[in-house]
Amino acid sequence: MDISGLSVLDQRIAGCRACPRLVDWREEVARTKRAAFADWTYWGRPVPGFGPPDARLLIVGLAPAAHGGNRTGRMFTGDRSGDVLYQALYDVGLASQPTAVTAGDGLELYGVRITSPVHCAPPANKPTPTERDTCRSWLVQELGLLRPTLRAVVVLGAFGWQAALPAFAEAGWTVPRPRPAFAHGGHVALDDPDGPALHLLGCFHVSQRNTFTGRLTPEMLRQVLRTAAGKAGLTAR
Ligand code: SF4
Repeated sequence: MDISGLSVLDQRIAGCRACPRLVDWREEVARTKRAAFADWTYWGRPVPGFGPPDARLLIVGLAPAAHGGNRTGRMFTGDRSGDVLYQALYDVGLASQPTAVTAGDGLELYGVRITSPVHCAPPANKPTPTERDTCRSWLVQELGLLRPTLRAVVVLGAFGWQAALPAFAEAGWTVPRPRPAFAHGGHVALDDPDGPALHLLGCFHVSQRNTFTGRLTPEMLRQVLRTAAGKAGLTAR
């Protein structure tokens, strides 16, 4: 466990300005705001990972939402995707409360950390391949710091899956070739030459497009979280 290392990393991520297009976008959104949040002071910076430094389970999304994480400064906090994710984490016993409204709302995750391969809100939720690749070094460093305790990862959606696999390889796990394809409920074990394997599970993204249409139901999400928690050695209900 490296508490100081991870908090230092989070601070460094929050100060990153490596992608000019995303810096412009996140700051413009923070200035112009959405009418419903007109009285908010938006975060308007990269959003670091959220959760304990000795997490056994990591959830990897895509990128912060313009008026969610980019507003509140915490992963999946203040948007519809987060409403679904945190409710499910609470339902299976991995979060202290079912809602995530502000960074100071007291929410705690139990053995779980949430991060993303791209830390800045992108226009239309679509980072470019260059932005994705530029941000990867932050994920590689985060994985390196979590590695002593990390045993399972849930990747939300195909973009996150494609973005994260090279990061796992760079961080030292053995990623099979050809690379395993994303599938909801899919599972692959990444060998670690120096320790236990890391269990990688795919799950449809908790986007409104998936949850409103029923492509991803709350029970489907809870089931993936329960399976991942079991592989991570966490107790879920
Ligand atoms: S997306 Fe990542 S690399 Fe690019 S500016 Fe944001 S934090 Fe930095």
